[in-house]
Amino acid sequence: MQVITQVSELRQTMQALRCSGKSIGFVPTMGALHEGHLQLLRASVKDNDITVCSIFVNPTQFNNPDDYKLYPRTLEADIELLQTTGCDFIFSPSPEAIYPQHTMLQFSFGKLEQVMEGAMRPGHFNGVATIVGKFFNMVQPHKAYFGQKDLQQVAIVRQLIVGLGFDIELVCYPTVREADGLAMSSRNKRLNAEQRQTAVSLHEALELAKAQLKTQPVATIKTAVADYLNNKPEVELEYFEIADPLNLQPVETIAEGEVALCIAAFVGPVRLIDNLVVNLTEV
Ligand code: AMP
Repeated sequence: MQVITQVSELRQTMQALRCSGKSIGFVPTMGALHEGHLQLLRASVKDNDITVCSIFVNPTQFNNPDDYKLYPRTLEADIELLQTTGCDFIFSPSPEAIYPQHTMLQFSFGKLEQVMEGAMRPGHFNGVATIVGKFFNMVQPHKAYFGQKDLQQVAIVRQLIVGLGFDIELVCYPTVREADGLAMSSRNKRLNAEQRQTAVSLHEALELAKAQLKTQPVATIKTAVADYLNNKPEVELEYFEIADPLNLQPVETIAEGEVALCIAAFVGPVRLIDNLVVNLTEV
C-alpha cells in the first residue's frame, strides 16, 4: 500500500493504471476510520483491480469551525487499518494541495439541498460537491463507494455524477452500527462515556418511529420522536424528518414504497446524524 500526498503523483499513477486496463475503485473518507469505512473498502477491493482511499478532512464542507478543528485525525491508525483491507493507495493531501487558491465555484442542488443537512449546514453540500468533483477528476475511478449513513450526500453525489457526466458507478452500502445500534461515526470518538451511552437514543428514536409508520400520521410520529429525545440527558434534537429516500423531500402522508427516517441531534457538543430506510411492505 502506497501513501500519496501530491496531486500530480496521484494523477500520474492513476492515469498509468487506467491506461494499462486496471479497474479503479475509490472510497473517499475523512479518516478516523471505523467498520463503516472498512466495509466500503472491502467492497471496492473485491470489485476492482485497484482501490484508492482518500483521507482528507475537507475544510470547505464544515460550516462550524470548531467541528473542523476538533474532527478526529488518526492517520497512523488509519494506515494500519487500511493495510488489513487490501487497499492499494491512500491519498492524504494537505488542504493547500487541494485548494491552492480560493475556489469561487458554486453548486446548486435545488430542493435537494434545501432540506435537512443542506438546510442546517449552509454551504455543506457545496463543499461536498467541490471535493468529490475534484477527487473524481484526480482519481478517475470506475466505481465510487459511499455509505447510506449520509443518505442526502449520496443523493447529492448522484446528481453530481449525472449533472457533470462523470463516467463513474455510484455504489452505496448500508449503515454499519455498534452492537447497541448506534451508527458508527468518526465523531463518536468525541463522546464521553455518558454521552456515548445516550447517543444510542437516536437509533432508538428511529426504531420507535418505524414501529408507528403503519398506524400513526406523520405529525404524531414526529411528536413521539421529539418527546422521546426530550427525556434524554444532553440530547438536543435538530430535526427528525420522514422523507423520500431518493429526493429527500418530506413525505406528508405515509402510503407505500420506501421512506427514509432521518434524524440529526446534538449529544453534548457533538452533532450526530442517522437514518433508516424502511420498506412499508415490511413493517
Ligand atoms: P466520512 O469519513 O464520515 O466522510 O465517511 C466516508 C464514507 O463512509 C461516506 O460515504 C460515509 O457515508 C461512509 N460511512 C460513514 N459512517 C458509516 C457507517 N456507519 N456505515 C456505512 N458507511 C459509513
